[in-house]
Amino acid sequence: MKVAVFSTKSYDKIYLDSFNNTSNQLTYFEIPLNADTAKLATGFDAVCVFVSDKVDRKTIEILAQNGVKLIDLRCAGFNNVDIEAAKEHQIKVLRVPAYSPQSVAEHAIALILSLNRKTHKAYNRVRESNFALENLMGFNLCGKTVGVIGTGKIGINFCQIMLGFGCKVLAHDIFESSILKEKGVEYKSMDEILEMADIISLHCPLTPDTHHLFDKMAFSKIKKGAMLINTSRGGLINTSDAIDALKHGQLGYLGIDVYEQEESLFFKDLSGSLIQDDLIERLMSFHNVLITPHQGFFTHEALTQIAITTMKNFADFENGQPLENEVK
Ligand code: NAD
Repeated sequence: MKVAVFSTKSYDKIYLDSFNNTSNQLTYFEIPLNADTAKLATGFDAVCVFVSDKVDRKTIEILAQNGVKLIDLRCAGFNNVDIEAAKEHQIKVLRVPAYSPQSVAEHAIALILSLNRKTHKAYNRVRESNFALENLMGFNLCGKTVGVIGTGKIGINFCQIMLGFGCKVLAHDIFESSILKEKGVEYKSMDEILEMADIISLHCPLTPDTHHLFDKMAFSKIKKGAMLINTSRGGLINTSDAIDALKHGQLGYLGIDVYEQEESLFFKDLSGSLIQDDLIERLMSFHNVLITPHQGFFTHEALTQIAITTMKNFADFENGQPLENEVK
């Protein structure tokens, strides 16, 4: 198969090449796929895309006109692909539904621990020979109430780690996990979680139902000073409302690995450039906000699994096998 791989970074090439077999001819493009770049896929059977690619209706129309038959996501979330438009143009959409849920769950924990114990600040202070403790005080996680929105593959792992810390874990999902219930996780309504949780972590997908799940109304219901962690998708949080809640102390801490307008920022080295996004600039100015650049998935184990599943997706499609990882 001839595959155009978009939004390629050095690490994508290393992992994809090492699991490729000779039947796939991979051509790497550093630029993202969108309506302006879709023509580059002319003559290719498939495109391989990531979260930063904008595979909207217009892009899909151009891909279809140019003979592309497969959109293969090397990630789990597919909110950046117009699935209906792909279906109308008989283009299959495949993804990597699971590739080390531990990597994202553990990153959520890293955000919680850093925000709470302020290790990022301590690191910078000590490098400047400042060994003072003022403003570094945290709280014990043991005994705190943690609310988890979405208990799928990543959410389950996250819950298990928080139980290990001795936290009371509350969860909200449209499907309840019996494994988690047996371990002591209690399913609650969204409002109950907002009212009771000291820490809330988001692990549900971005859908029309979950878009701006955290808005002015939700922030008004949280415990004053609670911590919100988002390693899922930026669109789950209304950024302006989060800034407002931070300014009033209603939101005590915010840890995000994803950001609503991340397409123009994340996965790029913009040091030395003028950032035109005022919302992220404002977020970065808060001492109690920690932002990481969508690196939850970025472990050796996850990249290995992404490459293996991506190659399996190509092979299934090429050989007319059942498409196990199809997004329908
Ligand atoms: P999953 O499909 O296994 O689990 C998602 C869970 O959310 C499901 O149990 C589902 O029932 C639940 N859900 C759906 N709608 C809901 C709603 N309205 N309210 C509450 N729960 C709802 O997915 P996963 O593998 O656990 O991944 C979760 C999300 O993490 C993905 O959608 C993706 O956006 C994000 N993600 C981020 C990174 C990263 O690097 N930061 C990496 C992988 C995935």
